[in-house]
Amino acid sequence: MKKKVKNNLIEQYVRPQIRQIQAYHVQPAEGFIKLDAMENPYVWSKNLQQQWLERVQEVAINRYPDAHATKARQALYEVMGIPSQAGLVVGNGSDELIQMLAMVLAGPGRTILAPAPSFVMYDMIARFVGSEFVSVPLTDNFELDLPAMLAAIEEHQPAVTFIAYPNNPTGNAFDKQAIAEIISVSPGLVVIDEAYHAFAGDSYLGDVLQYSNVVVMRTLSKLGLAGLRFGFMAGPEDLLAEVEKVRLPYNINGLTQASVEFAFENMDFFDEHAATIVAQRAVLMKELSAHSIVERVYPSEANFVLFKVLGDAVQVHQQLKQNGVLIKNLHQPDSALSQCLRVTVSTPEENAAFLAALPTA
Ligand SMILES: *Cc1c(COP(=O)(O)O)cnc(C)c1O
Repeated sequence: MKKKVKNNLIEQYVRPQIRQIQAYHVQPAEGFIKLDAMENPYVWSKNLQQQWLERVQEVAINRYPDAHATKARQALYEVMGIPSQAGLVVGNGSDELIQMLAMVLAGPGRTILAPAPSFVMYDMIARFVGSEFVSVPLTDNFELDLPAMLAAIEEHQPAVTFIAYPNNPTGNAFDKQAIAEIISVSPGLVVIDEAYHAFAGDSYLGDVLQYSNVVVMRTLSKLGLAGLRFGFMAGPEDLLAEVEKVRLPYNINGLTQASVEFAFENMDFFDEHAATIVAQRAVLMKELSAHSIVERVYPSEANFVLFKVLGDAVQVHQQLKQNGVLIKNLHQPDSALSQCLRVTVSTPEENAAFLAALPTA
């Protein structure tokens, strides 16, 4: 028998803001061609896998891991080109970094701001910590609406503004001049979330210390290591020293630390496959544009493509699913994402399977 929680405990003590949240939904994916979550289809060769296993085998799992992830951090500065004067915080995925920033800078009576549509965790985590979340709609072309952003920053004085660069779920990288103005008028922190940097032509990481209120965040998830849960952010050392106080001491587990150290010795693998995905993205976009069910394909600097269908996106999504292909349905009536779907760029074979499964108009 299912145990029932004590009378009124939920009503009385679970914070109303939490009760209103819809839990983050992950679609069951067993047996599907999985193109819904921007995962990377490429895995290490047998040889690399063997070397990795040998490394992981040495990890003493009866001991707590290195609380500072010292080796992984050292490698990060070199491999990612982080300025040596910059501070660095590592997280259990960048989701956890967003949560740390929210705990340190936001909370009741404070505001987190982001354009919309953008990454859903900005909104969710703002609510976890009891913060106000303000979203500013993008233009019809999914560019930043600069006057609206500047007005919202002036009005709400956000403690944190999140800019995903490139943006998820739209795929484009926003105008740099607009971002520069947002940074310069923001009283609080501006986070440049570069989850898709491997597929984009540009980055803020090397220049992060040119600003006094910017942190650049990245993750290994889209690069091919989503299962490890590892992200990092770099920025002003004194600010990140404050953030470091809320990082749980063992947030990067021992197996992940050993695995990312190994990965950083073999970055060529990721770079090569990111280039393959960028090339495949162009092929996929061209074929999607020519497809009868597709009304519009949006520009992408990420490892996914957003497209609008003629007719009913929910039905198209469902038909793909019946044909064994899982993508993301973003349709919301009367929104900028009306009739929009998002597909991850994968191997040539999986991309072809997706196109073949796409119903015609
Ligand atoms: C996927 C994604 C993340 C989350 O990455 P994890 O490191 O897997 O938590 C962060 N930001 C954006 C914009 C993303 O699309």
